[in-house]
Amino acid sequence: MSHRFRGPRGRLVEALQEKGIRDLAVLRAFDLTPRHLFVPPAIEHRAYEDSALPIGNGQTISQPSTHARYLELLHLSGSERVLEVGTGSGYQTALLSHLAGQVFSMERVGALLVRAREALRASGARNVSLLSGDGTLGWREYAPYDAILVTASSPTVPTPLMEQLADGGRLLIPLGERDEQTLALIVRCGTEFERTDIAPARFVPLVGTHGWPKK
Ligand code: SAM
Repeated sequence: MSHRFRGPRGRLVEALQEKGIRDLAVLRAFDLTPRHLFVPPAIEHRAYEDSALPIGNGQTISQPSTHARYLELLHLSGSERVLEVGTGSGYQTALLSHLAGQVFSMERVGALLVRAREALRASGARNVSLLSGDGTLGWREYAPYDAILVTASSPTVPTPLMEQLADGGRLLIPLGERDEQTLALIVRCGTEFERTDIAPARFVPLVGTHGWPKK
């Protein structure tokens, strides 16, 4: 574990508690994950602010409190197989690696995936597999997944992701327009999919075969 920024990391965990995050496993994951490895070196000093930050290629690393709320909603116990669509910086992938058994993460922007792979290696994450490609198609080889977390917004739930969700599995995805969405939780029960709307959300578009077309 990295000892750099130990103090700011502890203060971020306190800030998350003050914002209502109660799940101890989620708080521990934030305590163990060196966010400064996942942001560009020029803004390393801002890594432990509770804010979204630019990571290059027009993409952002989300606000830690947003990550924390989403991770709480997945109800992970430590043994699950999880698919993340939209690796971005790899920070949330690293958080997931402390909360699940195996993490599979897909990213369409190759340059981001290269940086995420390096940061994940430096952070010591072991149970993570990365794939470059269109995450709206899912990663069939390792399906079914107990949880699927989509970190970009889509007009509808990509059918391959519903097919690759295990029975009883939970899928989180921001659904709606390109600039404004609702975070939806989809729970699979056999051939039925139950949707619960959680909160308003604002994410970058999920660009791909079952998402938005490239502009
Ligand atoms: N959670 C990430 C982090 O901690 O840095 C931030 C993810 S960012 C909000 C959303 C990511 O989804 C972007 O990196 C974007 O390139 C990626 N993305 C968009 N469409 C995608 C697709 N079809 N497949 C895979 N990744 C996609």
